[in-house]
Amino acid sequence: MTRPTNLDVFVYLRKSRKDVEEERKALENNTPFDTLAKHRRELLELIRREGHNVIGIFEEVVSGEYLSERPEAQEMLRQIEEGMVEGVVVMDLDRLGRGDMIDAGTIFRAFKFSETLIITPTEVIDCNAEGAELLFGVKSIIAREELKQINKRLQGGRRRSAKDGKSITRKPPYGYLRDQNLKLVPHPEEAPIVRKIFELVAGGHGRQAVVKHLDSLGVKPPEGDLWEQSTVSHIIKNEVYLGHIIWGKEKHFKRNGKRVRKKVPPELWIRHENAHEAIVSQELFDEANTALRGRWRAPTRDGVGLSNPLAGIIKCGVCERALYMTRTADRPNPQLRCINPRCQSIQKGVLLPLAEQRVLQALEILARKSSLSEKELSASLQDESDDVVETKQRQIAHFQKELAELNSMRETAFEMLEKKVYSEEVFLQRHKSISDKIKEAESTISRLQSEIEEELHRRKHQKTIVPKVRAVLENYYSLETPEQKNHLLKSIIEKVMFIRKKEWTKKDQFEIEVIPRFPI
Ligand SMILES: [Zn+2]
Repeated sequence: MTRPTNLDVFVYLRKSRKDVEEERKALENNTPFDTLAKHRRELLELIRREGHNVIGIFEEVVSGEYLSERPEAQEMLRQIEEGMVEGVVVMDLDRLGRGDMIDAGTIFRAFKFSETLIITPTEVIDCNAEGAELLFGVKSIIAREELKQINKRLQGGRRRSAKDGKSITRKPPYGYLRDQNLKLVPHPEEAPIVRKIFELVAGGHGRQAVVKHLDSLGVKPPEGDLWEQSTVSHIIKNEVYLGHIIWGKEKHFKRNGKRVRKKVPPELWIRHENAHEAIVSQELFDEANTALRGRWRAPTRDGVGLSNPLAGIIKCGVCERALYMTRTADRPNPQLRCINPRCQSIQKGVLLPLAEQRVLQALEILARKSSLSEKELSASLQDESDDVVETKQRQIAHFQKELAELNSMRETAFEMLEKKVYSEEVFLQRHKSISDKIKEAESTISRLQSEIEEELHRRKHQKTIVPKVRAVLENYYSLETPEQKNHLLKSIIEKVMFIRKKEWTKKDQFEIEVIPRFPI
């Protein structure tokens, strides 16, 4: 295979028995050298040449042949299985160590299932390629069936841990701490929050109200900086808060380099009841879950289906979240509003019929452009889009220049390491931050390039847009269900951005920007 570039990689360093032997001889002859330092230089040179991004360096201080004797290799394999990197850079395949046939299978399996490449100065090994098993020496000593057994046994280890009531997730669940024996103990600050969430939901508060309440209290969510409704549902549904450990609800694997999740039927889950201290009672848990389910079904109850024709189309012009439809008993018309607490003080809601009307008006204006002569139309569009394309091309040139600078900074980082100006730690930090910036610049360039392509494509298709918009306008009001209307709008609208400032008091005082879907 051609040698890959620009991958996230680990470096693995280990001395073989032979290396130890030679170092000793050299020492006796007064010409001592350090094998690992030599290997490290060589591998870093490879990484520099092929433009990889070093995520970590694993250096085995002991020279054991077996995995059980090599803590660094074990830790690295664990991280590989989690999909941390795309490749491991190593002097040769044997450095990973084959140990015995069990080790060979374990190592092979970790690389194969996580789709991680083994990169050596002379070859690149893809464990999913045909013949890789043979190269790795697995097939010759381990039959396929045996490998399956090993897999099962390793999975079994995790399943057994779950059965023993140990928490084996990457992070302990919100509300708990984890002790050395992998048992969960209530977190002094988070556990009361979990209980509060259950109480609020059981008391009839919706997820939106809970989120608002938590944010107003300044409580930090498990991830990010704002509480999400999905986090609340996740907590309410999680039986870990009853003291149970449940494992194996989902299977994770990588497909074409992407992580994929698959649901596992409940009968295959591993359950360990009363594994740790509960945070909520069964009663509170059931109440909250019933309340949550009741609310969740509300929008589509009685088979009404989608009730908002602008669902998924109209978005908050401040935070870009989809606007949420709410109904209140005292108002005949539903309202659309942004439920992000941060927007509460700057964005107001709008009555659905008004927003709907405004969107259609905007489409009409778009269609009216056809009253211009064909020539005028194409001339005006041409001017406009040339301008956009030119601006984007200028931006690309700018980022390409930045990219060149970043590449030379990356080069400098390697030199600083060689000259020992940078410690390894400083180098890794520096290297990582530069690599991140390189990735960012590259993705911006490719985004701009595809935007230019899209723009050019749009110009080509411009002529057909107007008739399509017309057709939507003619048919819209004859459609019966909001679902059909939603579908029709989505056929030509990418999104609608909405703004209604707090001081805009008139009902129809709001702004929208319709972003059409191009090409149609
Ligand atoms: Zn918003």
